[in-house]
Amino acid sequence: VFDMLIVGGGPAGAAAAIYAARKGIATGVAAERFGGQVLDTLAIENFVSVQETEGPKFAVALEEHVKHYEVDIMDTQRAEALVPGKINEIHLANGAVLRAKTVVLATGARWREIGVPGEREYRNRGVAYCPHCDGPLFKGKRVAVIGGGNSGVEAAIDLAGIVREVTLLEYGESLRADEVLQRKLRSLVNVTVVTRAQTTQIEGDGGKVTALVYKDLRSDEPTRVELEGVFVQIGLVPNTEWLKGTVELSPRGEIVVDAKGATSLPGVFAAGDVTTTPFKQIVIAVGEGAKASLGAFDYLIRSTVE
Ligand code: FAD
Repeated sequence: VFDMLIVGGGPAGAAAAIYAARKGIATGVAAERFGGQVLDTLAIENFVSVQETEGPKFAVALEEHVKHYEVDIMDTQRAEALVPGKINEIHLANGAVLRAKTVVLATGARWREIGVPGEREYRNRGVAYCPHCDGPLFKGKRVAVIGGGNSGVEAAIDLAGIVREVTLLEYGESLRADEVLQRKLRSLVNVTVVTRAQTTQIEGDGGKVTALVYKDLRSDEPTRVELEGVFVQIGLVPNTEWLKGTVELSPRGEIVVDAKGATSLPGVFAAGDVTTTPFKQIVIAVGEGAKASLGAFDYLIRSTVE
């Protein structure tokens, strides 16, 4: 039985593990992919005290820091159910059941899909979600970026340096990205911005993407853009499907936490992108992970479970 079991091995989970292990309690981390979203990130320039680093490098540093302590790391393990109780159970996809006095849920989030015909069919055959991972595959080609928030505009700026042409499609009247990003975007000659555009279909030739169709919401007219790639950048979905019906979730599916990271279940805490805590950032996930871990430790020393 673990004193503290952390589900998820991103920045939040890693921080929780370090804080738990430093208390000398039996600590475990079960993660589908240790490192989390950071593995899909290129430059990180806002982790306070580290002027600049790269995602994979940061992920290695996270793991090394955790491994410096006595933590049972169970990588490539997917949690499928939480059974709460005096001793909580985490059921893994491989059939194993992990038992823990306290649990920290840190399963993060993933890219949101647009849900139009062609999106699933051409995933990884022209439809992409991670410009840092897949951008170079479209070198010299034409791509669209769907979404005019920070991630969409960042993606368009990033891709403009690699690809021939970028069309940025935004559903609303105007872009929602920070002004500094919009300024940068406007300075790029190979980027076209289309607002009031609703993507309706991604077309392909059976093998790969050939075009995107959007509806101009002002005229209701469909427009077809010939291209080779579509980057979907419309937000993040919390990884909580497996928790529905056990722990309280917000309408957006985020785990509801209090100031100590406590969830609706005694002994179950949560941290990072998976929670209602606003602003999904590494430095925030790390801080929240530490907080939830201390919250869980506080619970542990007050509980009577032997
Ligand atoms: P995640 O990093 O999402 O980690 C979740 C962990 O849980 C993973 O280990 C995952 O495998 C695991 N998991 C999920 N479901 C299960 C399950 N059912 N069972 C077991 N394990 C599971 N932030 C910044 O501060 N600066 C940046 O420059 C920056 N750039 C970014 C660029 C990209 C492309 C992306 C995708 C994100 C970026 N972010 C950036 C955001 C940052 O990566 C996240 O805020 C941060 O990683 C959140 O950490 P987390 O630990 O909460 O979740």
